[in-house]
Parts: sequence; structure tokens; C-alpha cells
Amino acid sequence: MKTQGEKARSIFKRALEVFPYGVNSNFRYWGDDDSIVIARGKGPYIWDADDKRYVDYRLAFGPMILGHADERVVRHVAEVMKDGTLYAFTSPHEVEAGERIKRMTGVDKVRLSNTGTEATMHAIRIARAHTGREKILKFEGQYHGAHDYVLYSTANSDTKAMGSKDDPQLVPISTGVPKAIEDLLVLVPYNDLERTEETVEKHKDDLAAIIVEPVLGNVAGIVPVPGFLEKLRELCDRYGIVLIFDEVKTGFRLANGGAQEYFNIKADLVTYAKSLGNGFPVAAIGGKESVMMTIEPGKMIHTGTYNGNVIGAAAASKTLEIMENEPVIEQVYAAGKRLMNGIDEILTRHGVPHIMTGTPPMFGFALGTTVPPLDVRDYGEQDHELYAKISYGLIDRGIMPETDGREPWFLCAAHTKDVTDETLTAFEDSLKAAK
Ligand code: PLP
Repeated sequence: MKTQGEKARSIFKRALEVFPYGVNSNFRYWGDDDSIVIARGKGPYIWDADDKRYVDYRLAFGPMILGHADERVVRHVAEVMKDGTLYAFTSPHEVEAGERIKRMTGVDKVRLSNTGTEATMHAIRIARAHTGREKILKFEGQYHGAHDYVLYSTANSDTKAMGSKDDPQLVPISTGVPKAIEDLLVLVPYNDLERTEETVEKHKDDLAAIIVEPVLGNVAGIVPVPGFLEKLRELCDRYGIVLIFDEVKTGFRLANGGAQEYFNIKADLVTYAKSLGNGFPVAAIGGKESVMMTIEPGKMIHTGTYNGNVIGAAAASKTLEIMENEPVIEQVYAAGKRLMNGIDEILTRHGVPHIMTGTPPMFGFALGTTVPPLDVRDYGEQDHELYAKISYGLIDRGIMPETDGREPWFLCAAHTKDVTDETLTAFEDSLKAAK
């Protein structure tokens, strides 16, 4: 399918001359003739270079919790940046953002960064410094950013290369990652309580941290089985391991207090990005006083020229102010429920075996199966061809989900009933055409 109009094609041709594969992040490359070129966004919509309008459910992989170009956030940032953007000194904007993060999430202390990658990288360093241990336990199918320590066995890995569940193999998702990193990682299938306990027992003296996305944010938003997160908390308490919740996707999305509030479990460290700044680059690491105070000038490094910069900090404080004072989360849930129920009903009526996954703010569905997937391996079993056909049909009709079902559908406060109704009509038309 050709998704580019005339203008997009000409811009992307220029992009191919400048950037490897024409993009600045690999996931954006859909092919020379199919990579999307977006000119602007507003609320639930984005417009491509040829002025075709799409209802956006990628939301830039999650951040736009209020919708694109939210006037309140944009105006605030534009106003404060008139007085400067970066001093590498403390500014009132970052203090305000930090206070709101503390109040909304219940962390004792917080440090600002710029991206989710920086946040998880620093959280892992804090955990190592805090415990004096070096190994990290991560779960299959989880993505924690682009630094070397975590680029293994993510949603993009070939599940066939993962070996058996009893003996999961580390599958690097990139060349260029030092082999030596493998000695620092311990891998477990997500949602496997028994294997997790067994593995932690085996490595308990070397484990600095368990890092977990509380839901499988990079595999259709799959939720934890009852007792899974509780078991992680218990094991970390038992062996003095730092529990890191990577809430880059779930933070300020599942609830104002993120997955910690949604599942009523406190981690030792939590990483935030995405919804924190409604599309401006800002991230945070928060956590318990005793763990966060491992950061120490001259001893344990958390640094960054752009950390706490005025633009990101002001965007975060305004986004969080809106979320604290308005029913943003309620609107996001209402929109997600309408869409989940509608898609479920349409697939049922057309006799397509399926199972809905995730939570309304970030949901997915698997086709060709009715068994709830528990991890990335299970999700790999679905009818990906039908999913892609429906997705391209939707794109043709002006609705923009990710074409790979592992990436959830993201909802924002601007997805009103009219917008989700339009989406469901297009979904049924696309399904009929795909079949
Ligand atoms: N952690 C999770 C759970 C993510 O989904 C992502 C990005 O999608 C990251 C970390 C990395 O964030 P960033 O792309 O801002 O570096």
C-alpha cells in the first residue's frame, strides 16, 4: 500500500539523502514509499504533508495524553521561554514540576532527565550503586530504551530465537552491543511467577535490580497476572533488590499516580517520560528517599546539560497541573472503553476469533485466537497478516494506529465520542475489506 502523497514523497526523498533510511528513529521507517511525513497536529488529529487528516492512536508512541498541540501547554511554554531556556542552574519551573511529580505519584525524591532512555539508564546505575551489585533482571518483551544495558529480548526480538521458556536466551535487538553486557543481565518470561522466583533465588547475591514495565507496554498492553507484581515486591524486599517500575508508558496514563497507583504497589525507583510533558522532551526518575539519596555529588553520577531545562520543565508542570485539576484520566478511560467495546463487538459480529488486551488508556487485541496472551511469546502466535491488513485499511480511511499490533492503541483526552464513533465505522469497513 502506498501511504505517501506527492508532497510527502518529495520530502521523504530529501530525507533519504540526509538521514539513514530517511528517519531519526528506526521505528519510523515503513519503507521508501510508505514512511509517513506529518506536517502538523491538533487534538486527536494529525495531518500529513499532503494535508490528509488522520485520527491519531499512535500519539507518538504514547506521550500526547492531552492531545496534540494542547493550547494551554504550548502557550505556557512559549511564554516562559521568552525569558530563556537553559542555564544549567536550578529554575523555579523544574521545582514546580518536581513538586507535582512527588504529589501525584507519591515518590519521596525525583530527578529530571530528558528521555525515557536516560531515565532507565540512570535508574539502573542508582540501583547498582545502592546495592553494590551489578546484575539486572529484565523480562522478555519489555523495552526500556536504547542504551546497551537493556537491548535484549524486547517485543521486536524473534521469539523463535528466545529458546524455551525454561531456559530463555538473551536475544540482542541490535548489533554493536558489547557481548560483555550479557553477563550483567538475567532474563525471565513476563508473568511467570514460578520462574521469576526460581531465577531470583539463583542470582540473589548479584542482583542489583528487577526492572519491569508494570504492563507489557510494548506488547499490546498485556497486564500482569494477579500476584505477579506483588511477588516482585516481595522478592525484592526479601533479598534487598531494588524494584524499578519503568513507567515511561504507564506513568500519568493508567492513573495520575501511574501503575503504582493502579496496582497499589510501590516500587523503589520509578521512571517517567512520555505523558509527563505532553510531547515535550522531559523525563524523570523518582523513588524512595533511601534509594534516591544514593545520588551524591562526586560519588554517584546523575548529570545532563539539558536536565531540568525550562522548556521540558514548564511543559511538565503545566501538563501535570491540568491533570491534577481536570478529569483527564477519566476522559482517557471513557474513550478507551468506547473503542475497546466497539472493536470487540465488531470482531464478534463478523465471526473473527479475537481477544482484547491491556487497559483502556493503552489497549491492544490479538486476532485468530481467543486465549489471553500472557507474554510476548503468546502474542507472537496471532494472525499478524489480518491485523496489518485492517491497519492499512484504517490508514487509508484516515485513522492512524500502529500497523504492528504489539504497539498499543493510545488514547488521549481529545478522543471525543464523535472521534471514536468515526473510528469504529472505519474499523468495520476496513475489516470487511480485509476479509
Ligand atoms: N521505557 C519504556 C517502557 C518505553 O516504552 C520507552 C520508549 O518507548 C522507553 C523506556 C524509552 O524512552 P525514550 O524513547 O524516550 O528514550
